[in-house]
Amino acid sequence: MYIIVRCESCGTFTYIDRFQNWKLCPVCGETMQKSSVRKYLEVENHHDADAVVVELERYLHQNKRTDLTPDETRKLRAEYARRVSSDIH
Ligand SMILES: [Zn+2]
Repeated sequence: MYIIVRCESCGTFTYIDRFQNWKLCPVCGETMQKSSVRKYLEVENHHDADAVVVELERYLHQNKRTDLTPDETRKLRAEYARRVSSDIH
């Protein structure tokens, strides 16, 4: 499992392995602490994490927004859960 997070310093979306406590921002080098950084979504694998990061950046850019509302975050989680449950493994 990976957790989608966002760098508080430069706004880049990235992800942290669930078993890690921190990650360096790939863009600005800021240390992101898992305990304090905002968590957007938990995903099953690295592939999904990459896809969600791209989707989030595109969504905010297209809508000229800087962040998701709590409501949009809930919607994002619900959509991901639905997508995962409809996959055939
Ligand atoms: Zn950063």
